[in-house]
Amino acid sequence: MAAEVVEEVPVADEERPLLLLKDITKVYTMGGQELRALDGVSLTVNNGEFVAIMGPSGSGKSTLMNLIGCLDVPNEGSYQLDGIEVSSLDEYELAAIRNRKIGFVFQGFNLIARTSALENVELPLMYGKQTHRTERAIAALERVGLGDRIHHKSSELSGGQQQRVAIARAIVSEPRLILADEPTGNISTLQSEEIMQIFQDLNDSGVTIVMVTHEDDIARHCKRRVEMRDGQIVSDEAMKDRVLAADMIEQIKQQKAVAAKGR
Ligand code: ADP
Ligand code: MG
Repeated sequence: MAAEVVEEVPVADEERPLLLLKDITKVYTMGGQELRALDGVSLTVNNGEFVAIMGPSGSGKSTLMNLIGCLDVPNEGSYQLDGIEVSSLDEYELAAIRNRKIGFVFQGFNLIARTSALENVELPLMYGKQTHRTERAIAALERVGLGDRIHHKSSELSGGQQQRVAIARAIVSEPRLILADEPTGNISTLQSEEIMQIFQDLNDSGVTIVMVTHEDDIARHCKRRVEMRDGQIVSDEAMKDRVLAADMIEQIKQQKAVAAKGR
């Protein structure tokens, strides 16, 4: 009788969670006082998701984003990014995984002021010694609708356009994951919708996005909403009544046209 053959079925890349956080704790010590910025956070994000992280100021949103982005490591708990245990990596390994897999649109990650949009977007490709830098940077700028602004300096662009340059810089190395912390802070409603349209297009093409926002109108563009309080996740649900940025932009333009006629 033939022995039963048990074949191990390997986990396909798309089926493995992109982010797998278990019981993450991050403690800051300030003046002898311990502060639990993250207090037992567990979160699973699959490929193709678009997650809004919400919650009051000080609830731990940015701390969580820094950990997910491999900019920092937790005190306790396990974090696997695309199957790699991150919590035990050293600085150099963290930088390598960051450059390979993650694009950042963070408020603090400003553009270089007296430098063109093109040079700003080429920059991440310099570190990786990658080829076809200029072509790829132009393609990324075209993708965010700035193909006609590539030689403008950051200081010559509006807030919304600068944020689009930041997105082009984040996507130029074709990351699997985009992390955005308040990407629509300080810009107009129409510009915010244009940013969200870019994110929705990227997400439709398979990029996973995790975005911090305190604005409900912006969060409604995502597919899932995670709420934080005092370093913990207090709710996590699929987005109801999701809005499409393309529809919102159409509405805003119609309203403007009506207002213009009335004058
Ligand atoms: P959020 O982004 O939700 O506003 P943060 O993650 O920035 O919250 O902060 C969570 C808590 O951790 C806050 O109480 C904040 O003061 C504290 N915190 C954040 N970063 C540091 C740090 N580098 N050193 C000390 N405390 C910090
Ligand atoms: Mg924050």
